[in-house]
Amino acid sequence: MADIWERSSGIVYVILAAALVWLIFGAMKALIFSTLALLWMVFHHVRHIVLLERWLLRSDHTQASIPAGSGAWDDVFAHLARYVRQHSQSREMLSLALERMQSVTAAMPDGIVILDEQDRIEWCNRVAEQHLGIHLSLDMGQQITYLVRQIPFVEYLAARKFSNPLILKQTRQQGLILSLQLVPYSFNQKLLISRDITRFEKLETMRRDFIANVSHELRTPLTVINGFLETLSDDTSVNSDFNKRALLLMTEQATRMQRLVEDLLILSRLEDAQNKIKEQSIDMSSLMHKLLLDAESLSAGRHHIQLDVVTHDQLLGSEEELRSAFGNLISNAIRYTPDKGEISVRWEKRAGQGIFSVQDSGIGIGSEHIPRLTERFYRVDNSRSRETGGTGLGLAIVKHVLSRHDARLEIKSQVGKGSLFTITFPAKRLVLEQVAECQHRILNDQESSMTP
Ligand code: ADP
Repeated sequence: MADIWERSSGIVYVILAAALVWLIFGAMKALIFSTLALLWMVFHHVRHIVLLERWLLRSDHTQASIPAGSGAWDDVFAHLARYVRQHSQSREMLSLALERMQSVTAAMPDGIVILDEQDRIEWCNRVAEQHLGIHLSLDMGQQITYLVRQIPFVEYLAARKFSNPLILKQTRQQGLILSLQLVPYSFNQKLLISRDITRFEKLETMRRDFIANVSHELRTPLTVINGFLETLSDDTSVNSDFNKRALLLMTEQATRMQRLVEDLLILSRLEDAQNKIKEQSIDMSSLMHKLLLDAESLSAGRHHIQLDVVTHDQLLGSEEELRSAFGNLISNAIRYTPDKGEISVRWEKRAGQGIFSVQDSGIGIGSEHIPRLTERFYRVDNSRSRETGGTGLGLAIVKHVLSRHDARLEIKSQVGKGSLFTITFPAKRLVLEQVAECQHRILNDQESSMTP
């Protein structure tokens, strides 16, 4: 309110002066005086509006270029000058921060690409240009999939599941292996981070090849040693107690070594990316009965083993690999459950997913060990594992088989009470009982029509 009175003071003065003129010189002079005064005021405001408009139309809105004003306009231009000063200060700070960010990202060993909500390139650093074959000046605004055309990358981008990185082996540069990770931020924008993992992958391949080669080379000599040990064990002429004991120990250790080599070879095969799984529809009822027979033979009547096949839905996957994974869990349950213990093996369907579980009333596992159980050679109790013929690789094999079948393993256990190992297969890996029957009938019909 005070502002309004202050800004209107000019008009008040004109009215007072006009009244004075009226009193001294009469009404006509007062009218002429007030008209001239008002015209002057209008001219004053129009002049300042024109100055303001000219300033607004200029491209450089600097503090120095703000016009000088008089009267009420002096305050207006002073406010404007303060605003322009603050604005240019924050612009300077912003561009400094941006420059700093760009120089930091340019110095980073990883490539960084900023993508908009439609996966178009907004900005990238020099490393990303080298990794992905981008020329920022030409490709800004271009869809990233025009430049990185590899199908796994296009699928990774479309799937919008960015928790794990993608390993890209076929890149524009011969022999370059990249790990690509998308990180969503802000509103639908993404950062694409590329990392050169060529050296790491080469080392991994060397490690895998070395283990596979050593295991392969050890296989033949071990078969020969085991063969001769078996012959010698059957030889009745070996009658000294020392020789008999030595033979027994040698046979035990050689068999253990052979199991270890076999497990290492299985792991190498599972790790080999070229070795794709042979998908087939597995008749779970029949597989479960085979597993029961193996379990009964291993337990030799020392445990009570129960088998439940709750669903007759079949499972899509490699029967050989899954039999080995399921067999490992059952053999562990037998080996880590004292005599007369209970073991229950189940195949069922829950919420559309396939569930295979093995429960035992055995020695159990402390919760601190559970996260590490699937590591190679990780054992809770070394001597018990060896005594019962364990290699320390069983659960590592299970983990690899499951990751090839999009399945996950859950372990619940209580020391002294027992353990529950549960494998969950996604719904896409289940073949409904009726569909499986239909497929079976079609196959049978085809076979009978082919036989003359
Ligand atoms: P191992 O050949 O030693 O059994 P695994 O990889 O199969 O190797 O298992 C790793 C470790 O997990 C075992 O050494 C054992 O300590 C523990 N373990 C696995 N299954 C069970 C079980 N059902 N009950 C108790 N401990 C178990």
